[in-house]
Amino acid sequence: MKKALITGITGQDGAYLAKLLLNKGYDVIGTSRDAAISNLANLKKLQIHDKVAIETMSLDDFNSVLHVVVKNKPDEIYNLAGQSSVGLSFEQPLATYESNMIGTLNLLEAIRFTNSSIKFYNAGSSECFGDTENRIVNEQSPFMPVSPYGVAKSAAFWQVDNYRKAYKLFSVTGILFNHESGLRPERFVTRKIIATACRIYNGSQEKLALGDTSIKRDWGWAPEYVEAMWKMLQHHEPIDFIIATGETNSLQDFVVEVFNQLKLNWEDHLIVDKNLYRPSDLKLGQADPRMAKKLLSWESSVKLKELISILIKEELSV
Ligand code: NAP
Repeated sequence: MKKALITGITGQDGAYLAKLLLNKGYDVIGTSRDAAISNLANLKKLQIHDKVAIETMSLDDFNSVLHVVVKNKPDEIYNLAGQSSVGLSFEQPLATYESNMIGTLNLLEAIRFTNSSIKFYNAGSSECFGDTENRIVNEQSPFMPVSPYGVAKSAAFWQVDNYRKAYKLFSVTGILFNHESGLRPERFVTRKIIATACRIYNGSQEKLALGDTSIKRDWGWAPEYVEAMWKMLQHHEPIDFIIATGETNSLQDFVVEVFNQLKLNWEDHLIVDKNLYRPSDLKLGQADPRMAKKLLSWESSVKLKELISILIKEELSV
């Protein structure tokens, strides 16, 4: 039986990945900053909270990381923990950097010191590319991050690359574009739109307040994306992959589709609030995920309309 350690198991991706690995017969151990008080809501929603072991681990404390790795002897480590909100990273740049960059470095060091055959997946992000303007980015495209989050993820990417080359670790980064589910908190704009629109559908008189709705993103469905993480660690060589749908839509398109599916007129409910604009934001994120299709046989099947339909169903069933 293979053993996997998932940092950030209480988050969206951690919970879906844990479910996937349990289904594949893995022994799954997850970490949280404080296992005694961690929020198991996502694991409970997926009905797997009693099938995984949770360890307390502080990513920015090397002793804590080393202790958990030595104690559990995993075959694979998936590093999904860290401050994951771009918006919040402008308010908490240091915590964002420490969790995403120092945390990754501590894990790499723990692997190097204990068992260099442990395979390591690191959660990278499309935010590393910055504004892609009219370029469609692939695995060779340069990083030009425009947020503290993007900077931290870029630094972590190069650490993973360096440990692969310098110490021959099987360490990879998945450069994932946005992926959503009902497990996302409302701090994230897609969940905010879905949750607010569903409350309005159920009779609420509130308005949906958003910042810049002209931004464009590639949105996929989270359960498909965790499959790509696993596939990256099963590939015969360690390679970084872009994981995305390959389709880009504006936030405005997202809003219109949500209200259309709920048979509501979006213009009656949306207000644009300049206070919600970020200090700097990506206008456009366009991805070329063809390498993942070619080498991993991974491709997203859920595109925007179906994604929104899934998210609405999940929201209305809560
Ligand atoms: P998430 O739901 O926010 O989960 C991340 C987990 O990390 C949290 O459950 C939390 O667990 C832990 N955490 C939060 N803040 C932390 C901090 N300051 N220091 C240490 N740990 C912290 O994130 P996700 O959506 O599952 O994403 C997983 C990873 O993929 C993240 O690294 C994210 O940046 C990256 N990513 C996500 C997307 C996306 O669209 N979802 C796209 C690209 C990359 P505890 O509270 O239990 O400690």
